[in-house]
Amino acid sequence: MSWTESAAAVRWNIQPFIDGRYRPSSATERFDNINPATETTLCQVSAGNAADVDEAVRVARKRFNDGCWSQLPPGRRTEILVKLADLMVAHKAELALLDSLEMGKPIQAALFDVKNSATRLLRSWAGFADKLVGISAPSIGGALSLNVYEPRGVVGAVTPWNFPTVNAVYKFGPALAAGNTIVMKPSELSSASTLRLAELALEAGVPEGVFNVVPGLGATVGAALASHPDVNLLTFTGSTITGRKIMELAARSNGKPVMLELGGKSPQVVFDDVDDLDYVADAVLQSWLWNSGQVCSAHTRLVVHENIKDSLLEKVVSRARLRKTGDPLDEATTLGPLASPAQRDRVKGYIEQGLKSGAVAVLKGAIQEKGGCYVSPTIFDRVTRDMSIAREEIFGPVLCVQTFRAEEEAIALANGTDYGLAATVWTRDMGRGRRLAQAINAGYVSVRTSGQEGPGAGCMLSHEPQKASGFGSEQGLRGLQSYSTLKSINFNGA
Ligand code: NAD
Repeated sequence: MSWTESAAAVRWNIQPFIDGRYRPSSATERFDNINPATETTLCQVSAGNAADVDEAVRVARKRFNDGCWSQLPPGRRTEILVKLADLMVAHKAELALLDSLEMGKPIQAALFDVKNSATRLLRSWAGFADKLVGISAPSIGGALSLNVYEPRGVVGAVTPWNFPTVNAVYKFGPALAAGNTIVMKPSELSSASTLRLAELALEAGVPEGVFNVVPGLGATVGAALASHPDVNLLTFTGSTITGRKIMELAARSNGKPVMLELGGKSPQVVFDDVDDLDYVADAVLQSWLWNSGQVCSAHTRLVVHENIKDSLLEKVVSRARLRKTGDPLDEATTLGPLASPAQRDRVKGYIEQGLKSGAVAVLKGAIQEKGGCYVSPTIFDRVTRDMSIAREEIFGPVLCVQTFRAEEEAIALANGTDYGLAATVWTRDMGRGRRLAQAINAGYVSVRTSGQEGPGAGCMLSHEPQKASGFGSEQGLRGLQSYSTLKSINFNGA
């Protein structure tokens, strides 16, 4: 069956999944779930409401308290989560198709997300479940003091649309491995794969009511989850503006802790000692145009030494010119539409602002106004630090070029936004690479030479976003610790 035939056969069923079964939302308001490749309606979805969230949290609390998951031997949780990863691989085409239809991701990229990113992450967290080891303090006399990790309880998770399957795994992976129950609220643009994952979790052996999903709007379902008095931890991935609202709601309700993975405006700093500009140009394109620039860590600022600016820019522009947008269900497509009409309008607005502010569009991408949310790559040269396109997250295929002469200037430009998520530095001088890695305010910094790199290291080292990009660490063992609470237990006596 072709992808188009499979798409026509999808039976959309977006409604709350609570206690192991679908149940209709009690909300009456509905909205259209749009395919951004065509701007046609895939299905109608309920806006959801606080009553749906109440019911999901009630069930998640009951299941947490009865210990059906939290009291399982951690090794058993590992086995079940590994089985879920296997099921995800078995259902990769189905999950990838849902993501592609709802948010326009090219089908090959969606398959990669499921097969490579999401399942690898889940297997890794599964393997950490029995490694949440506490410590004991030096003891004297009859005393024994221990630190132990315990699950927090009911976790609320709110996710964005850019990597629907991966974003879901990012939340339920560590939350479930650490023994919590969870209520997930996926983006209203892309809920289907999260719901399917909850079904697959049940099949893998996660007990009913441990993994619940309430789809709907941010202002209804998301806000109700962030405000809920019986949620013990709220983990959020999305924009900085929404993240701040979530903090406020969490503080006003029960003061639950929050973890925020927010926006970015990551720089790619290129010094003039690199000797393979073609390789660098390929890497710039990859880290900028991945997912059409709709990636929190997209490197959308090219901060380049003025000696090599012209030659590097020429290579980047000629490559970008060749990147044509296309039907996401065509396996040859590498650049799909943006995720929604709103996202297209946002990016269009930033392109207009860039032109008005005096930046030079060395590549001006076409914008399709209807029948598909397609925007081709745009590159702005002569971008200055004060321009909004240099400071604000555009979340689309727009690259801003800034030049420097001295190392200090490169550092100042790299740090010249409110964000602090990621950065890449290109130099053959490892001393300089180290200095920049330490001076740049970002959760993770890559230092690269010029084409001699081997494959990247494992992705399970933890990091924390900085500045307006959020806080809290979700990856690796630190991730599991974030989803746990640390208790000190003291024994006194002979
Ligand atoms: P968004 O903030 O608009 O929405 C994210 C989620 O929050 C959605 O589920 C939405 O329904 C919900 N929401 C919206 N308003 C809410 C409210 N008032 N209360 C509670 N929930 C609410 O973000 P988006 O457009 O879906 O995603 C793009 C953003 O996500 C970008 O800023 C991107 O950088 C960020 N992001 C960050 C990371 C990271 O790891 N740092 C990863 C992916 C995406």
